[in-house]
Amino acid sequence: MKVENPIESTLKDAEVFLRQQAELYGDELYLPKVFESATRGEATSSAVPSSSVETDNKPADQGDSLRSKTKPIKVSEEENLFDGTDTKAEWKIDPSWQKSDSLETLNSGISGCMRCPLGGTRKNFVFGVGNPNAKLVLIGEAPGADEDEQGEPFVGRAGQLLNKILAAVQLKREDVYICNILKCRPPNNRDPLPQEVESCEPYLKKQLEIIKPKLILCLGRIAGQTLLKTNATLTDLRKNTYEYQGIRVLVTFHPAALLRNPNWKRPAWEDVQAMRKLYDEL
Ligand code: SF4
Repeated sequence: MKVENPIESTLKDAEVFLRQQAELYGDELYLPKVFESATRGEATSSAVPSSSVETDNKPADQGDSLRSKTKPIKVSEEENLFDGTDTKAEWKIDPSWQKSDSLETLNSGISGCMRCPLGGTRKNFVFGVGNPNAKLVLIGEAPGADEDEQGEPFVGRAGQLLNKILAAVQLKREDVYICNILKCRPPNNRDPLPQEVESCEPYLKKQLEIIKPKLILCLGRIAGQTLLKTNATLTDLRKNTYEYQGIRVLVTFHPAALLRNPNWKRPAWEDVQAMRKLYDEL
């Protein structure tokens, strides 16, 4: 009876595993030549840098059938997906979203994003709504339960209050653009994590690049702190104007906070009047 070499057996198991992963995530994870050489007992001790392994230059009839189905994404392309910082295959989405020239194209290009773990827990991707040529963009921190359910930012009671606040300064929801820093809901409405912001912020920047607003109003301390990369209190944030991507920024209360603390409605009203004045000047 033939006794199987344990190393050969382990390598075979690993190959089966990688084949399954390649089915799910793409065939660049599967490097058959490495395993063929290893299981034939050829020299495999030298490390093979992934960027130097040739996997895509052969005619289909010489390559593995799995590899021949799709052209592997080269490492150089993969690194470019998010400014050269992202190399995880399972995060890949078509990088052409970066060239989007309309909100519709951008939305359809990124709505399947799984770049951070929130992609796996969301009910709906919450892109944003409103006037694609808006002069004013309202930005919150992340979708809540109602937003996750409906796929639209600032709905529910907080959204209704936001509509009233806008109406008080003669603006309608359709006049402005409304979105969040994160496009997916954090569990239990916890604050966004730095890695989530880092992953999602390029989408916000692209939205702003397309809309070209003159003014941003951050809704809530977390939105202001996250966008402006500061730990300043809301009291301090409300005192000044800032810049983000060359756009003037103001910060005020989140409508949900106003529902919980009606005493803040007066200072919020003052903020919104100041915002309207600046809006008219720009
Ligand atoms: S929060 Fe942003 S980065 Fe994370 S999965 Fe959703 S869209 Fe992608």
